[in-house]
Amino acid sequence: MSERTCKHCGANDDVNLSKCGGCLKIRYCSRECQKHDRDRHRPECRVIMEARKLKRTHHQLWDAVENENLTTLQHLLTNNEINVNDATCWIAGQTPLYLACSYGSTSVVEILLTAEDIDANQAETDDGCTPLWIACQNGHAPVIELLLASSGIDVNQARMDDGCTPLFMSCQNGHASVVELLLTSSGIDVNQATTDDGATPLSMACTEGRAPVVELLLASSGINVNQALTTGSTPLFMSCQNGHASVVELLLASSGIDVNQATMDDGCTPLSTACQNGHAPVVELLLASSEIDVNQALTDDDGSTPLYWACSERHTHIVELLLAVSSIDLNKGCQGWSPLRIAQRNNSSEIVQLLEDAGAQ
Ligand SMILES: [Zn+2]
Ligand SMILES: [Zn+2]
Repeated sequence: MSERTCKHCGANDDVNLSKCGGCLKIRYCSRECQKHDRDRHRPECRVIMEARKLKRTHHQLWDAVENENLTTLQHLLTNNEINVNDATCWIAGQTPLYLACSYGSTSVVEILLTAEDIDANQAETDDGCTPLWIACQNGHAPVIELLLASSGIDVNQARMDDGCTPLFMSCQNGHASVVELLLTSSGIDVNQATTDDGATPLSMACTEGRAPVVELLLASSGINVNQALTTGSTPLFMSCQNGHASVVELLLASSGIDVNQATMDDGCTPLSTACQNGHAPVVELLLASSEIDVNQALTDDDGSTPLYWACSERHTHIVELLLAVSSIDLNKGCQGWSPLRIAQRNNSSEIVQLLEDAGAQ
């Protein structure tokens, strides 16, 4: 029955209906009808009024969290009617704890976590991000310390659409102090990859060139230094592609590193991508590694080598670096094009000279 009818007789004369003075919700067409319904309505009226009062209290809870009003917050939490995980007052199902964590309100988080019924893992409904996740994204280390100390915290709970974990997010944004905290927490999965492209926290830190974060990850037990994306790109590949020399240096010093592990689609090696993109300091580091295969070519139909790439992209200094390697194959090229031929076609006179001096054909 619509609320715009008399609760007793069902009349729907909109103009003449009046609301119950208590709950301000139930309507009657006449004093008579209200009187007849009184015994039935009394308990219902009380429930409606209590619910409204509780809703007001929840709004007060939110105000207290947003304005960091600690005294009010503490007082509200003594009300055992209150739902400390209330997600109805804010956008996207965010809880008071989520909001406080996103702001980095350490004192508010500390108080909320003392509430008996607090659910520290309750995620917002849009993306499934937890309070810990949002604190990690924003780099609020003191808040994260509190969350990690709270019982039942799920340190690996990921965002819904792409499986991005709190650790992944901290690595992406380069929050080294946060990464340090997460790595010491029990149950952390240091290699948990995203569900869309299989990127690990390490590969993300390498892509972004976050050297201090990479250092922490490499020192953590159980790290898989060669775990690749679904494309086959390893952390080393990502850092070489983007020219992050300091990160490459750290990776090359780590035990178990595979310096020649290539991508799956075209067989591109870390050295190839560094040569192609002109990252000379990275090439220098790779060439100093004892395991490097300087002639490893792409596996797709072009079969180009690191030297071919350096020549075709006109990176003179890299050509010099490669020619200084005794095991370099001067003539291995791509679909009939030798490094020398491609340099001639490009009119790269300096590179042509270097190749001819080295005995290339
Ligand atoms: Zn009536
Ligand atoms: Zn009422």
